[in-house]
Amino acid sequence: MNHINKSTEYWQELDRAHHLHPFTDTKSLNEKGTRVITKADGIYLWDSDGNRVLDGMAGLWCVNIGYGRKELVDAAQRQMMELPYYNTFFQTTNAPATELSQLLAEITPEGLNRVFFANSGSEAVDTVIRLVRRYWQVEGQPDRNVIISRNNAYHGSTVAGASLGGMDPMHEQSGLMMPGIEHIMQPYWYKDGGDLSPEEFGLKAAQALEERILEVGPEKVAAFIGEPIQGAGGVIVPPETYWPEIQRICEKYNILLVADEVICGFGRTGNWFGSETFGIKPDLMSMAKGMSSGYLPISAVMVGDRVADSLIEKSGEFYHGYTYSGHPASCAVAIENIRLMRDEGIVDRVRDETGPYFQKRLRELEDHPLIGEVVGYGLVAGMVMVKNKETRELFENGSEVGNICRDHCFNNGLIMRACGDRMVLSPPLVMTKAEIDELLEKVKYCLDLTAKDLGKL
Ligand code: PMP
Repeated sequence: MNHINKSTEYWQELDRAHHLHPFTDTKSLNEKGTRVITKADGIYLWDSDGNRVLDGMAGLWCVNIGYGRKELVDAAQRQMMELPYYNTFFQTTNAPATELSQLLAEITPEGLNRVFFANSGSEAVDTVIRLVRRYWQVEGQPDRNVIISRNNAYHGSTVAGASLGGMDPMHEQSGLMMPGIEHIMQPYWYKDGGDLSPEEFGLKAAQALEERILEVGPEKVAAFIGEPIQGAGGVIVPPETYWPEIQRICEKYNILLVADEVICGFGRTGNWFGSETFGIKPDLMSMAKGMSSGYLPISAVMVGDRVADSLIEKSGEFYHGYTYSGHPASCAVAIENIRLMRDEGIVDRVRDETGPYFQKRLRELEDHPLIGEVVGYGLVAGMVMVKNKETRELFENGSEVGNICRDHCFNNGLIMRACGDRMVLSPPLVMTKAEIDELLEKVKYCLDLTAKDLGKL
């Protein structure tokens, strides 16, 4: 379709008539009309009215390398000319799938050497569930099928992903939650820590896992899954004591530890994987988003030697896979994306330079009358808007406050996401210090507008 000479209203009308958007109140969106994004470059987007917007969310936490990288387009084009598609089911493979497998084994933590490909984070998480349950079957312990997750975790939107996630509103609408899933408390010190120090609270939150394992029966628990930093839950960074204790408990009860790296992977926290930032040694890792910087859909599960060796040896055929598992064009783009991130030192720069600078500048907002805590690592951060900074009292209508702030951002050329009362940022990893300064200026301006609306300035 020729987009030239068509107007914003034209696309809005088509959208209103036919398009159901994800995670959207369609009625209220249709009343307002959607914003039509037409192009992007670096860290900026442009809409169909010519407005420039700073993308503080890298799309949906995924455009790690930034927009407009011709190398990725060329990689896709080359591969599509040569072999646009073939499956990996029928005893066949393709060159990009093999090379990406090797590359992923190289950049992921030690002991993770095998990969299963899928297309989205949700599909990767579904694959985790299939793999974990099959592993315990072939190990002769089929009753070990319970997977423990956390409240306010996000693991995708398929039936399995939504069940595993701990988002109450999603559970309430689904009515089809999968059996064999348990949720424990999240490690959100600011909200739930009370009089405990963050370190004490981190231990308490981790020990909830041990309590639940004992309630369910250790012989029934297959795995624990967690995001190193909870992303969609509002960028909740656990206290330092949390992950080591989780690791200890999983080892004590011989339970598989799964890190959902869909957001934290591929440099977001200043290391290639969030597991490195937090010293987690996962048995399996789900990943997506930054793997191809969102240029084409692709996801994967890294499978550690313990699980992979056992499945390869004992499972026979594993009845699982997707038409597009190991899609050649997506794999070619992911390879090019990882190569550029490596060759250009993008992850190192986030670790050593831009990440610390971004975090330092954002911490300045802790002086803002509306902001309780600011937390994050590398180029991901969350801040909570609070009623009372002294007592850590939250707003009763947190989501409304979040939406006020998000709308100010939207109207002032900035994408910053609201997760309830938490405002979150996850910009492209190629951001410069000057761009971070520009981002901070916009963030502060929009927080001031929000504070004024709430009578706090
Ligand atoms: N796991 C985590 C940790 C995520 O953040 C997301 C998406 N935000 C998913 C899984 C699901 O990924 P997708 O939307 O690609 O299905």
